[in-house]
Amino acid sequence: MPSKLSEELSPFYVMEVLERAKEIESGGGKVIHFEVGEPDFSTPQAIAEEAIRSIKQDDTKYTHSLGIHELRKAISEKYQNNYDVDVDPMRIVITMGSSPALYLSIISLIEPGEEVIITDPHYACYPQIIKIAGGVPKTFRIYEEEGFQINVERLKEVVSAKTKAILINSPANPTGVVLKRQIIEEIAGLGIHVISDEIYHGLVYGGEARSILEFNQNAFAVNGFSKFYSMTGWRLGYLIAPEEFIRPIQKLQQNLFISPNSFVQRAGVAALKQAGKDALGMADIFNERRRKMISGLRNLGFNINSEPEGAFYIFVDAGKINPNSHELAFDILEKAHVGVTPGIDFGEGGEGYLRFSYAISTSNIIEGIERLGNYINSKGISL
Ligand code: PMP
Repeated sequence: MPSKLSEELSPFYVMEVLERAKEIESGGGKVIHFEVGEPDFSTPQAIAEEAIRSIKQDDTKYTHSLGIHELRKAISEKYQNNYDVDVDPMRIVITMGSSPALYLSIISLIEPGEEVIITDPHYACYPQIIKIAGGVPKTFRIYEEEGFQINVERLKEVVSAKTKAILINSPANPTGVVLKRQIIEEIAGLGIHVISDEIYHGLVYGGEARSILEFNQNAFAVNGFSKFYSMTGWRLGYLIAPEEFIRPIQKLQQNLFISPNSFVQRAGVAALKQAGKDALGMADIFNERRRKMISGLRNLGFNINSEPEGAFYIFVDAGKINPNSHELAFDILEKAHVGVTPGIDFGEGGEGYLRFSYAISTSNIIEGIERLGNYINSKGISL
């Protein structure tokens, strides 16, 4: 029998939307994919070429368990240039995507039963990763009326003797919110361990994405190449941890994963050294799409109080159409052939909401909005 832990994990519902969408497509239907959480751009050429060159040069063996020095050094330089923080490359651990970095940070920190605080709504995988690491996710609400910012007073109410860490994410999935500098600074000073998921840094269209390391060098920063460099399938990320955690994390990495992928790390160096311009160009296009999406949804009658300023998501209240977001998402998919992610995927605080990703072409955005408009009209609802 499968273990209780594995049996009881929640599925990632967006994958189920995607699977049904694929079925519709294989039957000849065209689906507009607002549910996808990955950039639609090709990986920049310089990155791909470096990977091919590395494979041809037989750079296909295990590497150092913490990652190759050139990449750790290039990441250290990035944090110096972008945030003016001094990070010793020895404190950087290369991982296969940011997901293992999240897992390694949590499992190196907590004893079984200790709590990790997260927002509600939150990135869907956080509670599961915390549970797999033996911890207990403890949520506190964030509200649209407060621009989905973290209210530090409300956060303090859930801190207890069992609290080990808080996990924050800015720019955030699913809300697109960029946390205010002052809020990050206050969280950094709370005296509890902070893990900061900085995977959407670089995809910021207003406000400023600040690294937790600017305010607390004892924090854990998680980042990666999936989003900004459009490298989701490459599986490359990293973790910056306090010095005393590096050896324990190294032992975890050796036993669990041995080492990150060799030629992919070489490609990561090329990303940091050669693909900055390409990545910024993609961010500009995301920003144009963001505007199209916001105005399109507003024209349909959706209320967007504070505009999301980062990542590639818009989280909107669709409770007037149907407060059950799962039912609503599947109905929209069946009737309008538009894929959206149900808000409940991101916690109870997300119920009644839908997440729209604008990581698709402008023409598809326009078509998707039009289909959604027809769907809402067909229900005789005015938003
Ligand atoms: N954190 C957040 C907030 C995400 O949205 C994602 C991807 N959906 C990840 C982490 C994981 O990304 P990856 O493992 O591809 O780096």
